Amino acid sequence: MGRTFAALAHIETDLREWAERMRVAEEDAARLPDDERRKLFREHRERQQAAADAGRYYREGRPSYLIGLTCGARTRSGKPCGMTALHANGRCIWHGGMSTGPRTPEGRARALENLKLGRLKRGKS
Ligand SMILES: [Zn+2]
Repeated sequence: MGRTFAALAHIETDLREWAERMRVAEEDAARLPDDERRKLFREHRERQQAAADAGRYYREGRPSYLIGLTCGARTRSGKPCGMTALHANGRCIWHGGMSTGPRTPEGRARALENLKLGRLKRGKS
């Protein structure tokens, strides 16, 4: 009986220390420059995606230190973009960057096939 309580007390202290470490880590993360936080954001979204791929029901929510993170891309007015709705790459719908085209051999073949079909339909060009 006494041993069990001692062990539980140990676990409680461990948990408390762990919570304190987590809190400090989160406060440190909140003070990071936006570029670093965007890196953390991408890692967070990768973890979410991994959970979804593994079919896990639980997916971690956005950590508090990532709430309010902005896109930050340089806009035409020269100011950083202030959008907070971000894709997995840490940028907003306007600043994700253009597609770099098909990557896999099958995808490339498909794209080429569609190009040929389009040219046939249009006649020339
Ligand atoms: Zn943006």
